[in-house]
Amino acid sequence: MAVFDDLVGQDQAVAVLSRAAAAAGEVVRGGRGAGMTHAWLFTGPPGSGREDAARAFAAALLCPDGGCGHCDQCHQVFVGSHPDLEFVRPQGLSYSVKQTRELILRAAGAPTQGRWRVILFEDADRATESAANALLKAIEEPPPRTVWLLCAPAPDDLMITIRSRCRVVNLTTPATEAVAHVLATRDSVPPDVARFAAKAAQGHIGRARALALDEGVRRRREAVLGIPRSLTGVGECISAAERLVKTAEEEAAAATAALNENETAELRKLYGEGSTGKGLNRGLVRGGAGALKELEDRQKSRATRIKRDSLDAALLELVSFYRDVLAMQFGARVELANDDLRFDLDQLAKAATPEETLRRIDAIMQCRERLAANVNPQMAVEAMMLSLRS
Ligand SMILES: [Zn+2]
Repeated sequence: MAVFDDLVGQDQAVAVLSRAAAAAGEVVRGGRGAGMTHAWLFTGPPGSGREDAARAFAAALLCPDGGCGHCDQCHQVFVGSHPDLEFVRPQGLSYSVKQTRELILRAAGAPTQGRWRVILFEDADRATESAANALLKAIEEPPPRTVWLLCAPAPDDLMITIRSRCRVVNLTTPATEAVAHVLATRDSVPPDVARFAAKAAQGHIGRARALALDEGVRRRREAVLGIPRSLTGVGECISAAERLVKTAEEEAAAATAALNENETAELRKLYGEGSTGKGLNRGLVRGGAGALKELEDRQKSRATRIKRDSLDAALLELVSFYRDVLAMQFGARVELANDDLRFDLDQLAKAATPEETLRRIDAIMQCRERLAANVNPQMAVEAMMLSLRS
């Protein structure tokens, strides 16, 4: 099905999910649906697309055509506004038992569109022990039409009691070649650009596509990867930190704007508002204004999250840069993610020792941890820049 097309190099997972989606469709039509499972665990290293796979499966469950990829239901799943799909993404470092209990209550409701209620729990490994215990009870006895999709880096990250009740779908990082091939054949990207984008994105298809097709994304990547060579003094570190935070904000704003526009238009349509512009609140039927307010709140908290994610993605890009530097210092024969910046990599490789490079990678990882713990971004990034300086 079309929704699985982006799961490049995950043939085994796609086969399992397609069969399950077909079985789920059978259940909806009143059949037995052998092979349908109510609890799933998506595992795989960062960038392997755990959440993408879970989201595609959610679309396959909620779409009347089993995941066509272009109907309203599919679209709502992908923009995150489907009424029967609940996205759970722990904001802080852990997810509490109180939050879990509320979630379980919501999960127990009947599906509004008559198919399934799907809970997509990203970073399920962040559930606290008592939260995990509450979750276990819900998974043990799921309401007939509720499906849990948990995501975690590895099966071991969850309690064995939960793990053993889930069907595990393990994703792997797709090879550069596979990603480049998809970009070239499906998105008509010239082969050399496809290869560059696939390498730079390190197997992350969504990122690779954005790099290949969007000039703005390429420009922001260059800005991020230009940072290491610019860190010549304290003042430069401070301004580099400002630039990095700003670049992440720009990236987030671009992503948010596109999503928001779609959702607002959809909500207007839902409440029978045909015209656009100022008359919105007046024109909405009863309940519309409240729904719009709710949507705006949701969009606001999502914007915060996307901003944090963009900054984290930029930091991971820096990690990939220093990892390339390290590979050059060791003379390792590996594919460099940032092959296009070979000159910069070479300069840095010559100017430092492998120990210094490792220390820099540590500094970036530490910054990521501090950001996850809600430290002020500008402060955390400044401290990191100062450690990156030679
Ligand atoms: Zn569809």
